[in-house]
Amino acid sequence: MRLIFFGPPGVGKGTQAERLADRVGVPHISTGAIFRAAMQAETPLGNEVKGFYDRGALVPDELTTAIVVEALADDAQKNGFILDGYPRNLSQAEALDAALAARQESIDRVIYLTAPDEEITKRMMARGRADDTEEVIANRLDIYREETTPVLEHYRSAGFVSEIDGVGELDDVAARVYDGATESAPS
Ligand code: AMP
Repeated sequence: MRLIFFGPPGVGKGTQAERLADRVGVPHISTGAIFRAAMQAETPLGNEVKGFYDRGALVPDELTTAIVVEALADDAQKNGFILDGYPRNLSQAEALDAALAARQESIDRVIYLTAPDEEITKRMMARGRADDTEEVIANRLDIYREETTPVLEHYRSAGFVSEIDGVGELDDVAARVYDGATESAPS
């Protein structure tokens, strides 16, 4: 199972991707979580991404893609993976497709989690992460609309996007996500 979790910041991708990864037994790769761990440990990567992260800007593609390609090269990914927070623009999507094609692989499905704007802003304010201030949230939502949504169209044209309502009890959303992820592939 090779999946991308897609959706606006704050929609619950991290939580749901983690749950699905546990349930189906494939690794969960979150670029945001990799960056947070690196910043916490003050590694060279962490120091490099901090300025971008703190203002809600995208970390440069080359750096981000190199991290994902390295994670995918790990043996643990051979039965699949769940990508969360990547790709975030068309250039990352193309880089990902190329990296997978080089191994005769491709994405099976995109899980697109949705929620109304008021709901995701409310959730981000409640979560209280360092990059969850009003100003930074607004920036991240702008970037999502302008740079990230074209990624959805990129995969939609191949016909394998499952749109899932992200509003409701965690367990109910998780059940919908599981159904979407295991729906038979379009022929
Ligand atoms: P997230 O945890 O997915 O909300 O990501 C938090 C922050 O990490 C983003 O606002 C970006 O600064 C950075 N980030 C995460 N994933 C990416 C990516 N695919 N490309 C560029 N920056 C990213």
